[in-house]
Amino acid sequence: MAADKEKDPFLRILVTGGCGFLGSHLCRRLVNEGHDVIALDNFFTSQKMNVKDLLDKPNFEVVRHDVTKEFFIEVDQIYNMACPASPVHYQYNPVKTMKTSIIGTMNMLGLAKRVKARILQASTSEVYGDPTVSPQPEEYWGNVNCNGVRSCYDEGKRAAETLCFDYHRQNGVDIRVVRIFNTYGPGMHPYDGRVVSNFLVQALNGEDITVYGEGEQTRSFCYVDDLVDGIIRLMNQEQTVGPVNIGNPCEFTIKQLAELAIKTTKSKSKIVYLPLPGDDPKQRKPDITKARKYLGWEPKVPLEEGIIKAAEYFGSLDLSRFKKPTK
Ligand code: NAD
Ligand code: UDP
Repeated sequence: MAADKEKDPFLRILVTGGCGFLGSHLCRRLVNEGHDVIALDNFFTSQKMNVKDLLDKPNFEVVRHDVTKEFFIEVDQIYNMACPASPVHYQYNPVKTMKTSIIGTMNMLGLAKRVKARILQASTSEVYGDPTVSPQPEEYWGNVNCNGVRSCYDEGKRAAETLCFDYHRQNGVDIRVVRIFNTYGPGMHPYDGRVVSNFLVQALNGEDITVYGEGEQTRSFCYVDDLVDGIIRLMNQEQTVGPVNIGNPCEFTIKQLAELAIKTTKSKSKIVYLPLPGDDPKQRKPDITKARKYLGWEPKVPLEEGIIKAAEYFGSLDLSRFKKPTK
């Protein structure tokens, strides 16, 4: 099914989770490059509004569908992004989260096999769990609890990676696997519970900034445009090279992020300390040697710059249009 690029540089591309935070940015890039893009989404953590600007484009369509059900279409490439990514969302219905990662990925791999499409799986730094190695290279097997509150996501994504490599070895499916580290930017759901959205919305509203634990745990935050650039490069490089980390290697403590959110928004908010959720990883920092070598990729946007754009976006939202999580 893969199109002959000599004849037609424009591909038919399926993006599952295409109306979510990363999926909507990815669809926008692909549509603007001229490809025929189909966003498949069940709207669990997103809304059609996220792709409002694309709806009148002739090379874009949205299909309401759940990846845990089979889907038949003829395409050249599949980006499998469907899965809730915020702990609040993926722990809301953990059994469904696991089904989305495992059955959903199996359905998309089956589709890729049938139509000979190349498929990119959105994996995650969570496959490293609470890492004992830092920075984390792709060779590190991780330190993951298989029965904790985060396991539905971590183990679901690990199983999804296993499926990708087995479909590749067993059926010759042309796979790419990206391990995405914490990504932020305009288009995030303001109430999805992730740390950047929480801190910026709290700071803009003058509310307390909720640091969990002592705030000494670290994360490495990648601006969304850098991330999308990395995964498009990975999809379009010709060789399957195993999983590839895409993330920004600059590491910050959560307390430093809280201080940056206050400074950026010139907020009067105070930091408060709340209990640390179960199995919260203490550190996370990608080793991006492989992305540099195979993709010629590295992030360009420093956190201090990206956070200004994210703050402008959250400041421009009518928050009454977004639902707060129910738990
Ligand atoms: P998101 O929650 O904004 O987007 C996920 C999208 O998938 C939403 O539109 C949601 O409605 C859809 N979805 C969920 N379950 C579905 C199902 N069963 N069928 C169809 N659609 C479904 O999250 P995001 O940040 O855009 O993450 C996108 C992908 O990237 C996810 O697979 C996530 O695990 C991965 N990832 C993201 C990050 C990050 O920092 N944003 C980090 C690591 C991995
Ligand atoms: N966090 C926090 N306050 C919040 C939300 C999150 O201190 O309001 C912490 C959380 O405990 C974790 C880090 O910020 O240590 C990143 O959380 P997030 O949910 O964004 O992503 P994770 O990397 O944990 O999946």
